[in-house]
Amino acid sequence: MSKFWSPIVATLKPYVAGEQPRIQNLIKLNTNENPYGPSPKAIAAMQAAVADSLKLYPDPSALALRQSIARFHGVDVDEVFVGNGSDEVLAHAFVALLKHDKPLVYPDITYSFYPTYCRLFGIQAEEIALKDDFTIDLADYDRPCGAIILPNPNAPTGIGLPLAAIEALVAAHPDQPVVVDEAYIDFGGESAIPLTRKYDNLLVVHTLSKSRSLAGLRVGYAIGQRPLIDALERVKDSFNSYPLDRIAQAGAAAAIDDREWFDEMRGKVIDTRERVTGALRQRGFEVLPSQANFVFARHPAVSGEALARGLRERAVLVRHFAKPRISDFLRITIGTPEECDRLIAAVEEIV
Ligand code: PMP
Repeated sequence: MSKFWSPIVATLKPYVAGEQPRIQNLIKLNTNENPYGPSPKAIAAMQAAVADSLKLYPDPSALALRQSIARFHGVDVDEVFVGNGSDEVLAHAFVALLKHDKPLVYPDITYSFYPTYCRLFGIQAEEIALKDDFTIDLADYDRPCGAIILPNPNAPTGIGLPLAAIEALVAAHPDQPVVVDEAYIDFGGESAIPLTRKYDNLLVVHTLSKSRSLAGLRVGYAIGQRPLIDALERVKDSFNSYPLDRIAQAGAAAAIDDREWFDEMRGKVIDTRERVTGALRQRGFEVLPSQANFVFARHPAVSGEALARGLRERAVLVRHFAKPRISDFLRITIGTPEECDRLIAAVEEIV
């Protein structure tokens, strides 16, 4: 606290990101990265961008990247907004779409950046508890509000909602923006992007950090009808008209264009997830049904904290949240089969 701080800064509760250790031999399963790395075509495109053109500003409209995204999803290029990671895209959506006199509704438990943004932007929040089985009951969202945001699949539970349920939610709130954060959708969920054709209140947010293994590049995007996208553009151009540098634009476009790499790598993650789920259940864990690139699991006899500590002592890093209802759980990112074998071997020594 300092006399120079504004009242907003004094009340912030900043998001705390997972640890990014420098220790080489650690098996890093704590921040939901994808172990396989980006498409070789994306790496080549980024190298070419470095060699080529960094003395020039990037294209402020990121047109080539937006065209790739539009082609991939079968939407119009004007229906695509890109930003520096989906966190930034979400921040733009919070500023652009949320009413300050009505609450933003989202699940409790969910991605912890949402409450952080609400404090930063002075938005009222209304958190709706998950059911006992950690699923979202959309009947609870039938209430007056300014907007709704939810991740599908939810984080950190990994539990997904069927598309029909998302459509019912969007259709029931024609006058409120509904933001569906699909950071993990490519690992088994059904995307709501096709619904943006039909519903003008739906904004779907994606990231290249997970299924395209480009967390370090910081690229995310949103898809929705023109008026919603224009709102995000207005915020962007009032903040930073060059959010994506030339390397990011080139690498992200090449990654989106390489469908083969995308399908192969996400398929591997899904296969390993199913194997890890089975192995943990065999050892007495409760593992929530995941459609993401991580599993959320607890053991009846060993606390989440003790498990996380024991795994760390064995050079395996996982995420433990101190939050009351989920403090028994570990969130474990799906790594390579070899990394997951080491995880299971370490678990066997502890439980
Ligand atoms: N949404 C959810 C639900 C997430 O878990 C994450 C990753 N922490 C993000 C958005 C942000 O991803 P990025 O900024 O890397 O695109």
